[in-house]
Amino acid sequence: MPAPSTPKAAVPFRRALAAWYRKAARDLPWRRTRDPYAVLVSEFMLQQTQVSRVLDYYGPFLRRYPTIAHLARARPATVREAWDGLGYYRRAANLHRLAREVVSRHGGRLPREIEELRRLPGVGAYTAGAVATFAFERPAAAVDTNVARVLGRAFLGRDRVKGAAGTTAVARLAEALQPRRGRSAWTFNQALMELGALVCTARSPRCADCPVGGLCTWYRSRVRTRPGGGRLAGAPRPPRR
Ligand code: SF4
Repeated sequence: MPAPSTPKAAVPFRRALAAWYRKAARDLPWRRTRDPYAVLVSEFMLQQTQVSRVLDYYGPFLRRYPTIAHLARARPATVREAWDGLGYYRRAANLHRLAREVVSRHGGRLPREIEELRRLPGVGAYTAGAVATFAFERPAAAVDTNVARVLGRAFLGRDRVKGAAGTTAVARLAEALQPRRGRSAWTFNQALMELGALVCTARSPRCADCPVGGLCTWYRSRVRTRPGGGRLAGAPRPPRR
């Protein structure tokens, strides 16, 4: 497959997003660590679950099972108990199986490579990318629903990304937009998710407050079709006369 081409607005988009993230990001415990196991636990917990709910479980779970070896040694019933109330218990079972597999086959260390991560129980394309970028600071796309929405609107001009073709287009975009430096990739991927969670929400995006409003295809098309138009957030102000 040919390498995806980088959109023209990639550089200003990344810059605006990173500057906004530094000011506006929430201080979440899994953003303060690069411990692969702790990052992995957060990603399993965050699947289809709100951040506020995960915050109640994340710390206690890690105190109970501070390393992947501790988790691997645990009995399934106690892992289920630690997860009790968080829902989707299949995640807990998969995480537990994963821990046992990492201990038995990888010497207790999570692999760094996406392909190897994807072979572990319960790890799909998103989780593998998220662990690669958030734990190992690698330029790797991690496309969840928030990221797909932001990229679909900003670069494809679509409110919702649908179907296999749309999913592929967004995945290629996410890859093409990755900064080369790992630390910048970490910030970029966190910032995309944060923008989708706080500003570019599904039902009521706050385009007028958006740091990438001036670069957003979807927003520009809406302003153009609105009577009177108006200045786009993030767009340069017209020169004074
Ligand atoms: S301008 Fe609006 S639609 Fe575009 S990325 Fe920002 S919040 Fe989302």
